[in-house]
Amino acid sequence: MKHAQSEGKPQISSRTRTLGILGWPLGHSLSPIMQNAAFAAGGQNCVYLAFPVAPEQLSAAVMGMKALGFMGANVTIPHKIAIQEYLDDIAEDARLAGAVNTLVFREGRVTGHNTDAGGFMAALPASLRTMQGKSAVVLGAGGAARAVVAGLVVAGCRKLTVVARTPERGQELAASFNQMANITLCGWQDSVLNRSLADCSLLVNSTPLGMSPEVTKEPPVDWAALAPAAVVCDLVYNPRVTRFLERAQARGHQVVSGDGMLLEQGILAYQLWTGQEAPRQRMQEALKAALTGL
Ligand code: NAP
Repeated sequence: MKHAQSEGKPQISSRTRTLGILGWPLGHSLSPIMQNAAFAAGGQNCVYLAFPVAPEQLSAAVMGMKALGFMGANVTIPHKIAIQEYLDDIAEDARLAGAVNTLVFREGRVTGHNTDAGGFMAALPASLRTMQGKSAVVLGAGGAARAVVAGLVVAGCRKLTVVARTPERGQELAASFNQMANITLCGWQDSVLNRSLADCSLLVNSTPLGMSPEVTKEPPVDWAALAPAAVVCDLVYNPRVTRFLERAQARGHQVVSGDGMLLEQGILAYQLWTGQEAPRQRMQEALKAALTGL
């Protein structure tokens, strides 16, 4: 798979392998920039493209990628759940999260993985890599929240509070994990939320509140209720430091921004596709430059 190419200038040839990201609509995905930089730095003869695929074309897209000998793909909104029915195998991480964000094509079969959960955990400070005996509060109950809960449960977290605007979505999430952890569901105004905040080691925003262009929005958290030692994480990466993280920093909390998870999920995907260690530094630089340009 190695080939001679100067970094940043991929030489497309008859041996070039294709990968890409599937989503709908596919706005400003950063994955092509990050993964093409990685393939160039890693000497992989691969090209990674963006493929806007409408939901009704998803099955045809998976069959097409298989027929064309794709090496892999990423999957994003709104396909992370629906794509599962078109795959040959689902890896344990994706089964647990109930969603797929990475496809690996090998020997005529396509396997769905979820690198969001592992990526989220890898981005946390070392003190939280094991969550045994610790509790967490997760704001939001969408696809990203599922990956966060999956990562935390695998790391030993047995006590979680999930804040859901739409109760049914929260109930679905809790039902997927209630064999493995004690999940308390609440709404944004429930008094139980403040009790959970007082007791937690980690607070995660997995809603889009604060994401560009609506940068003045923030999850309505009672900061005075939060345990002073809690680490605060925002999955939003644009802007890198959201209003939510600014607020946490001002109160002395250690903070984790969403670009760390974005990088780590990409590193895990690269490793699944190539079997090689990912060129972390080059990927980080490419991501940083792309985020600055947004
Ligand atoms: P999603 O599936 O649409 O879920 C969003 C969740 O946030 C839902 O529970 C939704 O509630 C809730 N929510 C949305 N607006 C809200 C509001 N105004 N007030 C209260 N709750 C609200 O989206 P997702 O895929 O989970 O993504 C969530 C965020 O994480 C996005 O900003 C995304 O960019 C980010 N993300 C980052 C990474 C990374 O690598 N850093 C990876 C994945 C996602 P309802 O169910 O009621 O709509």
